[in-house]
Amino acid sequence: MSDEERQIRRICKRLGIKLGKCKVHDGRRWSYDGKILDIYHRFSGWMGVHPAADSMHDIAHWVCCPNTRKQLPEFGLGEGVDTKSRYAERQCSVEEAVQEEQFASMLGILMERAAGMNWRECWVRHGWSNTSLSELVEVRRNLKSWLEHTDTPLEKVLEICK
Ligand SMILES: [Zn+2]
Repeated sequence: MSDEERQIRRICKRLGIKLGKCKVHDGRRWSYDGKILDIYHRFSGWMGVHPAADSMHDIAHWVCCPNTRKQLPEFGLGEGVDTKSRYAERQCSVEEAVQEEQFASMLGILMERAAGMNWRECWVRHGWSNTSLSELVEVRRNLKSWLEHTDTPLEKVLEICK
């Protein structure tokens, strides 16, 4: 097991995220089946070439997801927001899904940074490098206020990642 995988597991444990293997559906595997987060498929090379960053992004989705959708496959976000692996049924509006995707992206990168990982690669890959400073500040502010209504405010999440 790599140091990064060990680090990801430690963060999940501290956040109370249950890890395991999700079942395969039509040759594809959910990252989250409503109960367990599957980081195995990422670290085993089953999916994705950025296992640590993509796992951190999944963890960020778990953190950002409202309790009303936390028991749904892929957090009820449905297919097509950012990844072809999301083919579970969408249980929110497209606008909500897009907003949550943006929050998860920003949070995952902030978590990578707090954990001392290579956050810059994901920063570029998720398209943030072309975003204006004022927009970045606004997204971070909105993310912080979004998480204040959860059990895991932003500061607490970032502290857990250190
Ligand atoms: Zn996502």
